[in-house]
Amino acid sequence: MDHTATTPLDPEVFEAMRPYFVEKFGNASSIHSFGRESRVALDSSRDSIAALIGAQSGEISFVSCGTEADNFALKGVAAMMTARGKNHIITTRAEHHAILEPCAYLSRTGFSVTFLRVDSSGRVDAGDVRRAVNARTGIVSIMHVNNEVGSVNPVAELARAATDNKALFHTDAVQSFGKIPVDVNDLGVDLLSLSAHKIYGPKGIGAIYVRRGVETERFMHGGGQERGRRAGTENVALAVGFAKAASLMHQRMEAEHRRLTGLKTRFRGMLEDRFPFLLVNGDSGESLPHILNVSFDSTRIEIDGEALLFNLDLAGIAAASGSACSSGSVEPSHVLIAMGRDVATARATIRFSMGVSTSADDIDQSVAELDRIVRRIGKKR
Ligand code: PLP
Repeated sequence: MDHTATTPLDPEVFEAMRPYFVEKFGNASSIHSFGRESRVALDSSRDSIAALIGAQSGEISFVSCGTEADNFALKGVAAMMTARGKNHIITTRAEHHAILEPCAYLSRTGFSVTFLRVDSSGRVDAGDVRRAVNARTGIVSIMHVNNEVGSVNPVAELARAATDNKALFHTDAVQSFGKIPVDVNDLGVDLLSLSAHKIYGPKGIGAIYVRRGVETERFMHGGGQERGRRAGTENVALAVGFAKAASLMHQRMEAEHRRLTGLKTRFRGMLEDRFPFLLVNGDSGESLPHILNVSFDSTRIEIDGEALLFNLDLAGIAAASGSACSSGSVEPSHVLIAMGRDVATARATIRFSMGVSTSADDIDQSVAELDRIVRRIGKKR
């Protein structure tokens, strides 16, 4: 029940990668036959990921994870902005820390950052982008799908608001890729981040799409790998695994979407029947079917979200909370607060996220355990 955090490696992905760990170990930059064999595998992995998002192969660079892709997009563009007299970045209050932290870093080094509000479902309004963007805005970064609540942003509309005003647009598509169609031309984005471990691929690899003609500072200085964008010997095995995982996800995308929509409707219905004081987060408008994020209304019941999770874990159910542990204290989720939840309700939140192995039985078991735990540790007001 925590597939948004990560997913198990698909055995087919493991088999596709295996030869590149043990037999086909050539350095993809070597010119001998061992190197060329690796180069072919690397390039065809790049080709297939590019094709899935409507990009050209040369617009994709492999990086180590989604976090690196997000850092690359913001810092890589920011480094080029100053020469053009631009120093303003726009993002939102509901982004992943992989965006918020680079923005905080850039704001300490002379850039000004606007954090847009989100509505009660976690979405950004294109009107807000148009009002915030100005001649000094170099890049606007807004996520495609929110990782905590699953809401889908109207990226095409948001991107137009940025690009009409000569700012670049980046989207973090880590949670949407493989689950709903992601096409860089339909979305109209200049940069886009991906990660393999959210789609049954290996941990340790992601990719950044950079539209042809968009200038970015190189992220790693060294050799000329990844067209000079990101030096370092290429990780061919993980690239092969990423491409395999992406292609499997796309083959089953529609069927999984239907199946998970059915499971989510059942799950939500059962939870709402049991708990009249339940609030569903990010439920209006388009949202992904594998994420169900619920809060216990603090005006009606007092319940400690951490204790809830701990007890679910004891019952064999791994879910995530609506809070993050930072420097030893439990902070309520910045996403839920940005959506307007009060601190106590945000703390009493659980994110369930389903995946290919989740069954109706898993849902029934989760609801039954949650019911048992809430009866034990919840105090009605
Ligand atoms: N962006 C979003 C929306 C995410 O959900 C995550 C991971 O949770 C990341 C970025 C970071 O990706 P990675 O774990 O590959 O660094």
